[in-house]
Amino acid sequence: MRKFFLLTLILSNASSLVAQSTSYWQQAVDYKMEVTMDVKNFRYKGTQQLVYTNNSPDTLKKVYYHLYNNAFQPGSEMDVRAQNIKDADARMVTKTKVDGKEIKESRIQKLKPDEMGYLNISNFKQDGTVAGTKTIGTILEVVLVKPISPNSKTTFTLNFEGQVPLQIRRSGRNNAEGVALSMSQWYPKIAEFDFEGWHANPYIAREFHGVWGNFDVKITIDKDYVLGGTGYLQNANQIGYGYQDAGVEVNYPKRTKTLSWHFVAPMVHDFAWAADKEYLHDVVKGPNNVDLHFLYKNNPKIIENWKNLQPLMVKVMDFYNKNIGNYPYKQYSFIQGGDGGMEYAMCTLILGNGTLEGIFGTATHELGHSWFQHILASNESKHPWMDEGFTTYVEDLVTNEMAVKKEVNPFKTNYLLYANLVNSGKEQPQTTHSDRYDENRSYSISSYIKGSIFLSQLGYLIGEDKLAETIKRYYQEFKFKHPVPNDIKRTAEKVSGAELDWYLTDWTQTTNTIDYGITAVKENGENTIVSLERIGRMPMPVDLQVEYVDGTVESFYIPLRMMYFEKPNPNPAIKRTVLGDWAWANPKYEFIIVKPRNSIKKIIIDPSGLMADVKLADNVYEVK
Ligand SMILES: [Zn+2]
Repeated sequence: MRKFFLLTLILSNASSLVAQSTSYWQQAVDYKMEVTMDVKNFRYKGTQQLVYTNNSPDTLKKVYYHLYNNAFQPGSEMDVRAQNIKDADARMVTKTKVDGKEIKESRIQKLKPDEMGYLNISNFKQDGTVAGTKTIGTILEVVLVKPISPNSKTTFTLNFEGQVPLQIRRSGRNNAEGVALSMSQWYPKIAEFDFEGWHANPYIAREFHGVWGNFDVKITIDKDYVLGGTGYLQNANQIGYGYQDAGVEVNYPKRTKTLSWHFVAPMVHDFAWAADKEYLHDVVKGPNNVDLHFLYKNNPKIIENWKNLQPLMVKVMDFYNKNIGNYPYKQYSFIQGGDGGMEYAMCTLILGNGTLEGIFGTATHELGHSWFQHILASNESKHPWMDEGFTTYVEDLVTNEMAVKKEVNPFKTNYLLYANLVNSGKEQPQTTHSDRYDENRSYSISSYIKGSIFLSQLGYLIGEDKLAETIKRYYQEFKFKHPVPNDIKRTAEKVSGAELDWYLTDWTQTTNTIDYGITAVKENGENTIVSLERIGRMPMPVDLQVEYVDGTVESFYIPLRMMYFEKPNPNPAIKRTVLGDWAWANPKYEFIIVKPRNSIKKIIIDPSGLMADVKLADNVYEVK
């Protein structure tokens, strides 16, 4: 999802960390689904066959499925949460004024029986034998007929019947821009079981985790509808609509009212699609011959924007390939749909009526998720910062790269937003489950912003080159392996040689803050003594820049003792002196500049602005 809320924030208000051991394993799935959509009443019926491979060392007696559609019913946990959270998502509530007072009402609460969502399961069988199931809100619990032993497979079959809800969040029918069907989280999806156990999270707000595997999906729908989504279309030459091979003339059977779209998607952990009668469909070749599909409404007001978006997204994908690692699939689809921007396997659903700048920003963010949400796929409910934060980081990087006027520090706003949250007193540690934040704003800044700063600040700690190397190595070593927080930290340690345990601990498991200050600059004969103070709990190495009256500049670096590391000079054009290390327990530190006090104009802590000091006033000392 995209951080579209951030601008309003600025305007309105100036775990588990168990390391993955060498005995890493993951479950595997093979889905076969056939579904028929009735476009008149938005109901669909389907069958699912799921071959489940238990690669864990445990014998499983139960399994769990997500039935996400059930969240869109009056009284659901998602509904109740929208009614109770202080800063409800604007998309989920309607605001009315009663006696001059603003009243927010949950949109889910108002859904009529033919407008709400549901996903009902019947005829559940394990290897041909009926198994007992129980629906608990958005989760289906299955008591297995026979336990699944380690290193064995079993086959589940079921029938499902669903109703597409009026679009409230992410999925749904008839969204704000008139897209008929945004089909995400629409099918019974088996929950992830990993080294920590089951992750059968109820669908309250966020977010998604899943088992990688192969999907084979046949969607039968009114023949006038154009589809886009996850996977590779197998019968493109019978479907047409821009999917067919060059020069192929599609002969639609005369009397049929429907078409069956057959998609295959290897090694994905989700399957999403969207459909509309008015979709235009363009295909552009991206880097490494990847097909980039663009599906958007035939609305004269937006066509030019969607055409202009296409070459830009080729560049963005190229940047991500070079700076993270190659995109491993053969296609990616940018689809108008949903309620903002949301990432799925091989595709995104984004609102498409805005400015080119707006849709470019959203598309850039969502495409970035392919690497972090989909291919690395950390558990987003538990560590949302590893997905939203890292995605925000690469989005900010590429946006700056492509901007006409480049910023020296493209992450500046993130530091302001983070300090703003800290100073509001509402920060919760990043180990908080993404549904358990008191307010949406705290979740968002913690995940998107503090998560992004985890990386930009890592550049301050180990140097930009080592950070870039860390990101690439992290992707290579952990793609398709659900990395946990320790994995990014350990990768940075291996690349840099620095010890960073303290960084992961303080930044992600506590609300400790960074606050260093210059307390005094005193004359000492021909020399000057500079006194510094650590006011915040969190340790940091300190970069200092000294500007002299004669216009020259010099820098000083105070390594942090517990890092056992000396960062290379980030700006070799400026002479740097490496001082003695700062042991964290000392709140004070002094050093000598071998020049008289009256030759100094200004001393600055961290001229890069990449260290997240929450009180900047004492970071600059002007000598008078
Ligand atoms: Zn996002």
